[in-house]
Amino acid sequence: MSVTDTGATVWLTGLPSAGKTTIAYALAERLRGDGHRVEVLDGDEIREFLSSGLGFTREDRHTNVQRIGFVAELLASNGVKVLVPVIAPYADSREAVRKRHQGQGTAYLEVHVATPVEVCSVRDVKGLYAKQAAGEISGLTGVDDPYEIPADPDLRIETDGRTVADSANALRTLLAGKGLV
Ligand code: ADP
Repeated sequence: MSVTDTGATVWLTGLPSAGKTTIAYALAERLRGDGHRVEVLDGDEIREFLSSGLGFTREDRHTNVQRIGFVAELLASNGVKVLVPVIAPYADSREAVRKRHQGQGTAYLEVHVATPVEVCSVRDVKGLYAKQAAGEISGLTGVDDPYEIPADPDLRIETDGRTVADSANALRTLLAGKGLV
């Protein structure tokens, strides 16, 4: 089997508990198994290290996304498949990351993990929806903080009623269609 070493950034945007991280790690495992170099830039890890000190204002969220976009492009331009499961709620932040990649001639794909808030709030992997409902936190994306739905993503993945493997497979098919895997 021949393995392309063309790098690419795949940004998985969506609400908390939409399935971004789960799909990213499932796809990463699959791609590694095929011999690709893969990195997952996990939002929580990034916030602990690269973006420590940033909060959740519009400005800080934008800065966080630009920093991640910068690192993703560096990796992708060196042959790594970079999977980025990060909410990135603002369209202009996402667009700036896309432009940065385009300017460097680096492949960039935007994937909307389109799980409705009603489903996400039941999954509530980190208990954030419950905390918001209890008044313990505020500024939760999709509830009392904005989420700008991508108007024209490269792929929109529904996860409700589908398996993780199914969702990861849809993403792999997208990459294959672009000649990236
Ligand atoms: P996010 O990274 O978007 O905040 P997570 O990936 O951490 O979300 O959590 C998503 C949850 O939804 C996990 O518990 C996962 O097992 C579940 N889930 C159910 N179906 C799917 C699917 N088709 N794709 C991804 N996750 C799914």
